[in-house]
Amino acid sequence: MADNLKNSPYVAVKVNCPVCEKEIVQRYVKSKFYQPVDIEKDHHVQTYKWVDEQYNHIRPENYYIWYCPFCHFADENDVFRGKIDPMWKGRLDFIAEKILKAGKDTEGFQAKVGNEIDITRELIVTEQAILSHLLACYIQESFLTTNNRMPHKASRFFLRLAWLYRERATLGSDGSFTPGQYLSFGDFLNALKYIWPEMPLNENDALRSASVYYVDLLNQSGKDDDIKKEITLMFLLLDLFRRTGDLDEAYGYVRSIFTLAMKRRQATKTMLDKGVHSGQLSAQQIEQMQGLITWLTNAIDDASSEGDAVNEAIFWKEYESARDIALTCNPMLPTKVVEVLREKEFHEITARKVANMCRPPKGKKVATDLPTLEVLREKDRQMKQARMSQSSADEQQEQEGTPESGDSGAN
Ligand SMILES: [Zn+2]
Repeated sequence: MADNLKNSPYVAVKVNCPVCEKEIVQRYVKSKFYQPVDIEKDHHVQTYKWVDEQYNHIRPENYYIWYCPFCHFADENDVFRGKIDPMWKGRLDFIAEKILKAGKDTEGFQAKVGNEIDITRELIVTEQAILSHLLACYIQESFLTTNNRMPHKASRFFLRLAWLYRERATLGSDGSFTPGQYLSFGDFLNALKYIWPEMPLNENDALRSASVYYVDLLNQSGKDDDIKKEITLMFLLLDLFRRTGDLDEAYGYVRSIFTLAMKRRQATKTMLDKGVHSGQLSAQQIEQMQGLITWLTNAIDDASSEGDAVNEAIFWKEYESARDIALTCNPMLPTKVVEVLREKEFHEITARKVANMCRPPKGKKVATDLPTLEVLREKDRQMKQARMSQSSADEQQEQEGTPESGDSGAN
């Protein structure tokens, strides 16, 4: 028995609810049992490596939000364990009565959602985690005034909710979780939206809500705050906007990262040069500055490749309608096409690429057709594949060396 417990990935702890103070048993997953392997740009862990394959179905992030079945309060587990940031503690004390009162309404959001959450189960499936996260998001949004909201909490909760929706969409559901009298989980969510109209129903909705709070968080950070933190947050926003298809917003962050990182790198270089010259910097300060310069250089490179990716996404999004317009140009001359597309406010990247495609084929005076989106996509896919297999072949050759050519060179 003791051995069994030791080998279980779950830890059960008794805690007191920070709102109603009743004692509850909560669970988390021991971090030494797993390791994140594939992490997406928005920090979502796609796959974990477990010490034992039998645990592969467990998602540790499903245990991030804890829920109290007595008062229907939900928050990150640290808050239940007493690790609560003083600012949130003050606000929570202030709204506790309201949460308790609203929780008693059987037709209210808290009770409706809460009644479907069973905290006695060890395995928390995605649907149940979605519900506890929805509750935590609801509490952040519904009991605090706009001025009193805590963007660092709300942003995180909505982002995590988005991950769970993504997992449900990509990994699928085993269908075993259907709340109460509803036909499906989706039906239940739709019913909940009547009570909380701003409720995110899918990944995109949740990402949009998260980005609103992350923008707030970015605006709150002072000018001389930690530059790495600020740029990391900008990269996250870039990714969130790219995912929701708000490509202009995403490109805006590419530009902001670029400008900020370039400026700070230049300023750090100047300071470093001066300091080294005058001998006023300690070895540690010099090392720190050099580290920052390298970090910023990497950020500039990353922003540049992100910019290319966003531009490509813009092109794909606009291609079909740009093609339609280009085909109405008679004759379809590149100079004419670029002008018309610019006039119609297509992005420069689309205007130029499509115009380029309108160059007359060999032996013809003008181009008369453009590939459809599907054909172009397929061509692009093949080209990328060819490029990839070429570069892996190059790599292999490099690794193996080329003794034959080396020998013949010597002869
Ligand atoms: Zn409680």
